[in-house]
Amino acid sequence: MLFPNVDVRLEAVEFTADVLVVVAAACGPPPRCPVCRARARRVHSCYERCLAERPLSGQKLLVRLRVRRFFCDRSGCQRRTFVEQVSGLSERYRRSSLGLRTWLRQVAVELGGRAGERLCRHMHLTAGRTQLLELLDPPPVPERAPRVLGVDEFAFRRGRTYGTILVDVEAGRVVDVLPDRTSETFAAWLREHPGAEIICRDRASAYTRAIKEAAPHAVEVADRWHLLQNLAAAVEKTCHQHRACLRKRVDEVTSRTRDPAADAAPSPRTTADADHRPDPAPPR
Ligand SMILES: [Zn+2]
Repeated sequence: MLFPNVDVRLEAVEFTADVLVVVAAACGPPPRCPVCRARARRVHSCYERCLAERPLSGQKLLVRLRVRRFFCDRSGCQRRTFVEQVSGLSERYRRSSLGLRTWLRQVAVELGGRAGERLCRHMHLTAGRTQLLELLDPPPVPERAPRVLGVDEFAFRRGRTYGTILVDVEAGRVVDVLPDRTSETFAAWLREHPGAEIICRDRASAYTRAIKEAAPHAVEVADRWHLLQNLAAAVEKTCHQHRACLRKRVDEVTSRTRDPAADAAPSPRTTADADHRPDPAPPR
């Protein structure tokens, strides 16, 4: 059975080059108005929707589904007409069936965007990586901030749009993502989600301002990644500033370890450099 436990009447099956088209009509009892919940009694009109379904025997499957538009007769209800949805098959505004959306959501959960898109191509499912990612529901944000809260900027589009990512450092999972990286937005979040005792951050002054304003009792610490990054940058900068000294030192070591045979017959260049050569090491 193609649609078990679904209120549709199968009317025809059509084969095209690479798509199997099922023509069906909704035949369930009159639905309730989505606004006032009164049960409809009069049909306004019918029209056809086209829903992508899960493939059947490796073939793409489309459902041409005839649905009814009903009047809402309750006086005072703001809704004059509404379209029925077939439970277990269709949803408002969706162009794919409920079953197909469940499949695609599961693919997105397990594989994410790019890998999910590749798998869908093999399974004759039409879904781009953006479409897959849009199926993911964000997990609920806890009412209280975690005890150790990590905060850092987050690139929605690298170099263009940045937000803020908040992490439960002890549990190692993302708690929330804020739409920008301003101190006002982060401070508002801290006020709505109290409870952070330690806040682990980079050295951006915007986050410090927000912490001092909205969570003054929290201890601020620099996280290990940013400490190492800052240390590496400082070492690189110092080496760059002292590169002349370093080069001189390298020359000294090189000249000390040079082959003695080369010293026996110095070339004109080495003779000219001799004045700059350091004194030989004193005898022990
Ligand atoms: Zn109504």
